[in-house]
Amino acid sequence: MGSQPFSALRGFKDLLPGEAEKWVWIESVARETFSAFGFAPIRTAILETSELFTRSIGATSDIVEKETYTFDDWDGRKVSLRPEGTASVVRAWLEHGLVNGVQRKFYYLGPMFRHERPQAGRLRQFHQIGAEVIGEAAPRHDVEMLSLLCDFTARLGIGGLTLEINTLGCPHCRPPYRTALQRYLSERQADLCEDCLRRSAVNPLRVLDCKKEGCRKAVADAPCPVDHACGACGDHFKAVCDGLTDLGLAYCLNPKLVRGLDYYTKTAFELTSTALGAQSAVAAGGRYDGLVETLGGPPTPAVGFAIGMERLALLMSPDVVPRPAPLLFIVPLGAAAGRLLSPALFQLRQKNVRCEMGDEAAKLSAQLKRADRLGAAHALIVGDAEIAQNSAILRNMTTKAQQTLSLSTLADEILSHLAGR
Ligand SMILES: [Zn+2]
Ligand SMILES: [Zn+2]
Repeated sequence: MGSQPFSALRGFKDLLPGEAEKWVWIESVARETFSAFGFAPIRTAILETSELFTRSIGATSDIVEKETYTFDDWDGRKVSLRPEGTASVVRAWLEHGLVNGVQRKFYYLGPMFRHERPQAGRLRQFHQIGAEVIGEAAPRHDVEMLSLLCDFTARLGIGGLTLEINTLGCPHCRPPYRTALQRYLSERQADLCEDCLRRSAVNPLRVLDCKKEGCRKAVADAPCPVDHACGACGDHFKAVCDGLTDLGLAYCLNPKLVRGLDYYTKTAFELTSTALGAQSAVAAGGRYDGLVETLGGPPTPAVGFAIGMERLALLMSPDVVPRPAPLLFIVPLGAAAGRLLSPALFQLRQKNVRCEMGDEAAKLSAQLKRADRLGAAHALIVGDAEIAQNSAILRNMTTKAQQTLSLSTLADEILSHLAGR
């Protein structure tokens, strides 16, 4: 008796041909765009010691508390699948002494893991493209990140996006702001949801972006970080806004856009879309001048973002994905033809002609049917009669027009024929 067939774990999705091409294309556009903006690729480990994330994301945040895939490995060490990319990049940057290197701009793409409650559209293995600039404090680097984000999504043909920006202040101006916000929230406890009651004590900024109706009303007149920004934070924010204007990039100020962790400073931003139902973020990022120090490094300014690839793929029109080159299907009729055509198949593939060959034992009609189902543009047919005449038949699968080529110069003739199209 056979056993039950396996299926993928809940929250883990296979990308099959038809959909996977879109992802491959997003990745290739990412590589091209990020490279044009001077970013170098970095690939970090997917499994890290759990402490890296408790230290960087914070033991009190929902992500670490409930959502990481954390387990003891065979050596008894607590390890976690990365729930996001920044901590690993900073860890690698510190570990390999990149502080002394000339390259300060990095990008990555790959899977991240969060053990979220399964619900529509929430995957436990999801994918991000992220970029980090480590060691640059000037506002022009914030602008650079935002222009990169805008250009990348434009190259993918995604429209209808809104760039929202805000400033979160710094270690000088945030503590007094935090106190003012907590005072404001303490007078409205009755209106806050359960999560926000907890947040108002440990992480009051997060209350500002709670999506619940009651909380949104409660914080409508709450003090915002921008009102409490110190001179340096105010100047930085103005320079970022001016920089975006200089590049002709539209943005809107969202004084309630926040990040929950203390190492986030100054600029915070999101790229949002209304095309996915409720307003939702396609990309999010900001300046995190305090993170490198939190992970044991020297005080180092940094700014970064992460883009959700699942959302990009949803927002992209399938028409923008370039179609693969037309397929040439080679039809050998009999063993002699199969043997004779194998070198041509190899040579054409070496020249990047997309080729497939049929089963030499199959009939002409069956092979042509397979060529059709694969969407072949041309079929190349050779049987014993053609071998005897040193010829081959090239058939246009759409028009059914046929022409005769010489077997001895087959690969070259096909190349020049396809180039003429
Ligand atoms: Zn400040
Ligand atoms: Zn709330």
